[in-house]
Amino acid sequence: MKAIVVSEPGGPEKLVLTEVRDPIPGDDEILVSAIAAGVNFIDTYHRSGLYPMDLPFTPGLEGAGTILAVGPGVAAHRPGDVIAWTRAVGSYAEKVVVPCDQAIPLPDNISPSTAAALLLQGITAHYLATDTFPLREGDRCLIHAGAGGVGLLLTQIAKMAGAEVFTTVGSQEKALLSAGAGADHVILYNDTDFKEAVEQITGSRAIDVIYDGVGAATFLKGLDLLRTRGMMVTFGNASGPPPDISPLALAGKGSLFLTRPTMAHYVATRPELLSRTRDLFDWVAEGRLDVRIGAEFALADAAEAHRALEGRSTTGKVLIRP
Ligand code: NDP
Repeated sequence: MKAIVVSEPGGPEKLVLTEVRDPIPGDDEILVSAIAAGVNFIDTYHRSGLYPMDLPFTPGLEGAGTILAVGPGVAAHRPGDVIAWTRAVGSYAEKVVVPCDQAIPLPDNISPSTAAALLLQGITAHYLATDTFPLREGDRCLIHAGAGGVGLLLTQIAKMAGAEVFTTVGSQEKALLSAGAGADHVILYNDTDFKEAVEQITGSRAIDVIYDGVGAATFLKGLDLLRTRGMMVTFGNASGPPPDISPLALAGKGSLFLTRPTMAHYVATRPELLSRTRDLFDWVAEGRLDVRIGAEFALADAAEAHRALEGRSTTGKVLIRP
């Protein structure tokens, strides 16, 4: 089969289309013919070495496809079933081995493409808004990169909770998308100082929570927007990892809470994974959550997909079609 293989860390050119042996599912594993693979920013961290991986490896964590075979011990899934997944390393490939406990059955009204576009970023948006800082009616939240994959979904979920949503975006086109997702105040942070722009609307230190997946470029300034006992949720490094800070700095800025969540700890059990997934599927089916697929690439063009994502030219979800 064909798969993308990374033999050494580096830029997008390290994503090489390669003929490899078909994988064989082991105990409690499922072999899937992939229909779509989700591209996520974490895939670029794996490729670049920011999050080190054993080499060589096939990147990609997320996808959807049709079951070809199941390994010994798998009773809940059968060949022919369509499943999706968010935690199966090796998803940029024609065939993927998925751990049985990560297989998410798809309801009839959710297509494989929608599932591959929704789940990883959707579960992230779900846990950020419902558990990391559970948003309530009237809470003010700031979401950086509001037109990105997580950003568009998080904005919609925050609006469902009744929050007042501030977003930052990198272009006019992205501003329209963010406003379309429900953001109340959209700030073009390449042209405007986002702290000043927020303060003009709210006064000083009036934001309850910041969801920051941008990192280095936004983290420190954000701390000065939070209300006393507000929360900084730093959940990604799109512009590079945020700088180290002293715990004492949090006291000086108003007894702030600082957390650095990661998805695995919020879908630590199968019931939790299925419960978040069920909410997402229900919201899509009810027309309350729109899933935007902003770009699709052939498997051979995985490097282009990474260039687009890291070059800030994408909106919503990026998919690879194996
Ligand atoms: P996005 O679709 O949001 O793409 C990243 C966006 O970040 C860009 O489109 C761009 O938007 C913005 N950005 C700002 N500065 C830069 C920069 N220097 N280089 C590149 N992009 C920049 O990606 P995802 O939705 O996949 O992920 C968003 C963030 O969430 C990432 O940091 C990711 O690692 C994190 N994440 C964390 C998870 C967790 O559980 N902790 C799970 C999933 C994602 P703009 O042009 O508008 O500035």
